[in-house]
Amino acid sequence: ATPTALLAATGRGAQLGILVSGPQALERLRRIDTVVLDKTGTLTTGRMTVRDVTHRPDGRDPDEVLRLAATVEQCSEHPVARAVVGHVRDHRPAVRLEPAAAVRDFTATPGFGVCGAVDGRMVTVVRPPDDPDGLPAPLPEAVRAAGAAGRTAVLVTVDGDPEAVLALGDALRPDGYRAVDHLRRLGVRPVLATGDRAATARVVARQLAITEVHAQALPHDKAALVTTLQEQGGRVAVVGDGVNDAAALALADLGIAMGGGTDAAIGAADVTLVREDLQAIADAVRLARRTLGTIR
Ligand code: ADP
Ligand code: MG
Repeated sequence: ATPTALLAATGRGAQLGILVSGPQALERLRRIDTVVLDKTGTLTTGRMTVRDVTHRPDGRDPDEVLRLAATVEQCSEHPVARAVVGHVRDHRPAVRLEPAAAVRDFTATPGFGVCGAVDGRMVTVVRPPDDPDGLPAPLPEAVRAAGAAGRTAVLVTVDGDPEAVLALGDALRPDGYRAVDHLRRLGVRPVLATGDRAATARVVARQLAITEVHAQALPHDKAALVTTLQEQGGRVAVVGDGVNDAAALALADLGIAMGGGTDAAIGAADVTLVREDLQAIADAVRLARRTLGTIR
């Protein structure tokens, strides 16, 4: 393609809300035949809200458990963390959070959860096990119900004791179904990859008619998935928003970041969807193919 054509395509992309890092990105965009889509914050809005809280009846005081969980989550910027902190602030006026600075030994494990010490107690908020039956009643039922409803469940533990399960709701982006359908009609294979549990991932995938689902994926699993798809001959784009997506975005033939995503995701990507419009992915592929000619 001529420099003029590339410039024109870049400008047209910007009008569609697609920021392309350079002409090489356009060139790779037109060859894409597989798209790995992250769930939380990509296919969904990432504006999570707590819908259900289940405590074990023989456990610590429920307000105290929520206080510890929300205090630790103040140190994280994950959608789950924002929802937990927001829930306690807005709906539990009796609960007084410690300042984030009161959390010791905070660690975030992308794709899995957070851990920190508050008042000498070790608190974790994490993805529950795939098989939750080892948890005390009624937590397994709460995890199952959340999964069946397509909600994200997280488990709160205090000093190693499972204390509560929170179910979080998140809305699919309204243009998701059409966007995925549009990609398929362009001959691009959609694949869902998420750090969430399989049950939740399957409900979201079904709503978008995506049949290929990889769940409970840690950041290196998402990256390994990209490599596997490439080894199968795929030209792979990854669409993501999180720290947990950065490695996969960097490895992909084309990394696409959601505009509202983390700096880590945007920094690792070749393309940014400034309007967070999923339809823009297919629009961008079409634009690149039209401008640079179809694949020989
Ligand atoms: P996705 O890949 O769908 O964007 P993530 O990889 O960001 O999802 O998160 C995967 C899972 O890890 C979440 O469903 C949740 O169970 C857990 N998780 C991640 N961050 C946190 C956090 N700050 N607090 C609690 N759980 C978390
Ligand atoms: Mg995400």
